[in-house]
Amino acid sequence: MNRRTFITGGVTASMALLLNGCHNSNRQAIDYSKHPSQIAETSSATNSVKQKKVTIRLATSWPAGFPIMGTGVEHFAERVKAASGGSLIIKIYPKETLVPALAVFDAASAGEIDAFHSGPYYWKGKNSAFALFSGTPFGLTSEEINSWMLFGGGMEFWREMYAKHNLYPLLGGNTNVQMGGWFRKPIRSLADLKGIKMRVPGIGGEVFSRLGVNPVLLAAGEIYPALERGMIDATEWVGPALDLQMGFHKVAKYYYAGWHEPGSVLELTFNKNVWESLSPEHQAILQIASDEMNTRMSLEFHAKNLNALQEIKKLGIAIQTFPNDVNHAAYQALQEYLKSESAANDDFKRVYESMESYLQKSRAWSNIGLGAFLNTREV
Ligand code: CA
Repeated sequence: MNRRTFITGGVTASMALLLNGCHNSNRQAIDYSKHPSQIAETSSATNSVKQKKVTIRLATSWPAGFPIMGTGVEHFAERVKAASGGSLIIKIYPKETLVPALAVFDAASAGEIDAFHSGPYYWKGKNSAFALFSGTPFGLTSEEINSWMLFGGGMEFWREMYAKHNLYPLLGGNTNVQMGGWFRKPIRSLADLKGIKMRVPGIGGEVFSRLGVNPVLLAAGEIYPALERGMIDATEWVGPALDLQMGFHKVAKYYYAGWHEPGSVLELTFNKNVWESLSPEHQAILQIASDEMNTRMSLEFHAKNLNALQEIKKLGIAIQTFPNDVNHAAYQALQEYLKSESAANDDFKRVYESMESYLQKSRAWSNIGLGAFLNTREV
C-alpha cells in the first residue's frame, strides 16, 4: 500500500496504528529552516495527513437502537463525524454483532475492537475496584460522581487502573438514580426479602445477598420471561423509561424506589494504543463529544423518566419505598462489604477512600443546597 492509497483509502484506527505509527512523528516533519515554498509544501502534506480518514470500531453492550444508551452512542458518532469533517468515523457494533455484550472489555483490551460503550461495574470480576467507578449503593449521585471524576481524582484512578488492561476510559453517560426494582409481592419488612430470587448486578447484588436475597444475573431478554414464570421474584433494571418498555408492570405490581444505583456511570473506553495513535485534533473531538454524550444522556434519562413515571402511575402501579429495617440493614451490609473488599484489594481501598471522603464533604453541601431546596420547593 503506498502512502496515497493509505491517506485516501480509509483505515481502521488499529490498522493506522500498525501501518503509520504515531501521528506526532508526522507533525515534526516541518523544518522552518527550509525555503518558504518548501515549508508550504510540507505543511500541505501535514494537513493532508491530518485529514486522513480513521474509522473506530466501537462495540456496545446494548442492542441496536436501544433507547438512550444505544441512541446516545449513535448521536455521539454523528457528532464526531460532523466535527471532524468526516475524517473520524465511529462504526458502531451493537451487542452480539461483533462481540458478545460482556466481551467488549476483553476485546478492546486485546485490540480486537478499538473502543466500547458499556458500564464499569460489569468488570468487577477482573478487579472489584472497577465497580466503584459506576458508584456505590447509598453513595454519590450522578452530579456528585461526575464531579468526583473530574475534580476529585476519580478519572486519575480509573485511567491508572484501566491502563493495566491497555484501556483508556472517557465518561460515556449516566443513568441517574435508578429505581429499586419490581417485586411480585410487597416487601413489608426485612423478613419478606429472605430467600427471594432477584435479578440485581454489581455491589447492589452484594448488598442484597447479605439481606438473604439470592441475586441472579440475567441478560436483558431473559428477565421478563423469568419474572413472568416466577423463576425470579423481583428484578431491578434502570428507571421508569426503560422499565416501562420492558413490561415488568404486567407481571410485578410493586415498584420500589431505590438506593442501590444512585448515579451509575457509563463508559466510553478505547484501546490505549489506538487512543494514543489518534491525532491531538481527533482526541479533542472525541473528548468534547464524549463530554456532550455524558451530559446529554443523563438529561435524556431525566426527561424520559418523568414522562414514563406518569404512564406507570396511570397503569395503577403505586410507587413504594423499602421499609426502614430494610434500608438500615442494607446500609450496614454495604459497610461490611466495603470493609472486607478494602482489606482484600488495595485498588478497591484506594478508590473507595477517595470516593468516601468526597461523599462526606459533598453530602454536607448537597443536603443544604439541593436537599433543602427540594424540601422547600414542596412547601
Ligand atoms: Ca440497574
